Amino acid sequence: MSRILFSHVGKRYGKNNAGAVQNFTLEIDDKEFIVIVGPSGCGKSTLIRMIAGLEEISEGHIYINNVRINDLPPKDRDIAMVFQNYALYPNMSVYENIAFGLRLRKMPKHEIDIAVKRAARLLEIEAYLERNPKQLSGGQRQRVALGRAIVQSPQLFLMDEPLSNLDAKLRVHMRSELIRLHKQLGVTTLYVTHDQTEAMTMASRIVVMKDGVIQQADTPEEIYNNP
Ligand code: ADP
Ligand code: ADP
Repeated sequence: MSRILFSHVGKRYGKNNAGAVQNFTLEIDDKEFIVIVGPSGCGKSTLIRMIAGLEEISEGHIYINNVRINDLPPKDRDIAMVFQNYALYPNMSVYENIAFGLRLRKMPKHEIDIAVKRAARLLEIEAYLERNPKQLSGGQRQRVALGRAIVQSPQLFLMDEPLSNLDAKLRVHMRSELIRLHKQLGVTTLYVTHDQTEAMTMASRIVVMKDGVIQQADTPEEIYNNP
């Protein structure tokens, strides 16, 4: 179960700034797949970074399951992130990359092993576990990054343009993979993109942002019919 509440969230970089994110208010239900879409500079990354704890929240509150997370350290927020550039550890094997977060949490070795292999099976990367990320294609690397996220069983996934570095054909394939994973795992997901097709095909709800403000928040069908 995980529900997210944004209440009048805002971010100012410096005093005279109008606000990279302004008065962002949104309630997200358990298992939703929210896609935040909007042009470059509209505040998408700032929003994601505030949720993850990489950027301070200037105004308002964010709650995950009724816990206010504004002042929680990133590691206590129970969130897993996937980035555009994969951000894998280059000197670790795929196995070690996926296991890393669990080792930090001091999970027993045999449990880590079960979790890593389960994630690898879900993502169909079992054959690459001993390889180094350098020996993988872009699509395979993104699967490893996803594996590293899902192995943590977080209460929230944050994904920041995760498919943008893939070629068009692979992007379409990974879209349906992500939808499948979301159905299987049922983890509430916040997905940021500038790609409207991704938004229309993946979202349970789309949040359209412009200049730091929510323009529209609705199902893909509603947005398609009332753009
Ligand atoms: P997006 O992810 O939608 O491209 P960002 O969240 O990166 O948008 O940026 C939103 C606004 O905040 C932009 O006007 C950007 O220039 C500004 N901004 C982002 N990061 C910083 C920063 N560290 N310092 C000052 N301004 C920033
Ligand atoms: P021990 O300290 O008991 O020797 P290991 O680190 O060798 O434990 O790992 C125990 C199990 O975890 C192994 O049987 C293996 O399945 C799995 N394992 C650990 N590291 C790796 C790895 N780099 N690649 C694949 N499997 C691994």
